[in-house]
This record gives sequence, structure tokens and C-alpha cells, in this order.
Amino acid sequence: MAVSRIQHHGSDELKNSMHELSIAMSLVDLARQEAERVRGRVIALHIKVGPLSGVFKDALLSCYEMASHDTSLQGSQLMIEDVPIVIYCPQCRAERTVGSVQRFCCSVCSAPASQILRGKELELVSLELES
Ligand SMILES: [Zn+2]
Repeated sequence: MAVSRIQHHGSDELKNSMHELSIAMSLVDLARQEAERVRGRVIALHIKVGPLSGVFKDALLSCYEMASHDTSLQGSQLMIEDVPIVIYCPQCRAERTVGSVQRFCCSVCSAPASQILRGKELELVSLELES
């Protein structure tokens, strides 16, 4: 029998990871429903996480492990794909990436962004299932 070891967190850390835990639990629910529907077993979940989604990847990964423990998803992988921050640059009149997460400026001409187009994503892209 597998023995699980859950690391003890301080109350502040626990509070911070509540967000990730609820996300992880929704992902597990979604994947389980899909796996039941096709009568398969989930091997991996692919998700997209933008830097502006407010999600900490490491926290999400450990929460996923916690949430999938003792479910049919135990041992499945959560694959996180990074999404770049994309803005609309009024100067270039084009979609551009930003120079850094701290400054929402065009990476080409340094003009301030007028609109953030991508970077807030938190979405399930695909499921890998085995029948
Ligand atoms: Zn520009």
C-alpha cells in the first residue's frame, strides 16, 4: 500500500494555496468526468497558465498531486504550458510581447501597452487518456 506524505504548511501558506487547491480540484473533477465518459484512464492533463492568471505553478502542481491522490487520476501528470503576455502596441499597431512582467511595454519599441491581449489564461487544453 502506498504511503502518502503531506507536507505541513504554515497557515499563511495554506491560505495562499487555497486558490490553487480549488483550481486543482476542479481540474481533477473535469478530467474524471471525461475519463468516465470515454471509459478511459487519464494519463495527463495539459493546461495553459498565463503569468497574469494569479496562479503559482509550483503550488498548483503540488495541489494537483493532493487533489488527485486516491482518485482514478492518481499518478497522472499535470502539464503546464506557459503563455506569454501579449499586448497591443499602439505605436507598432501590432500584437507584441512585453519586455518584462513588471512593465507592460512593447518589447520592440518600448511604447506602453494600450491593451493586454493574452497572459491571463488558465485553461484546460487537452487530456491524454488511455483506454
Ligand atoms: Zn511597439
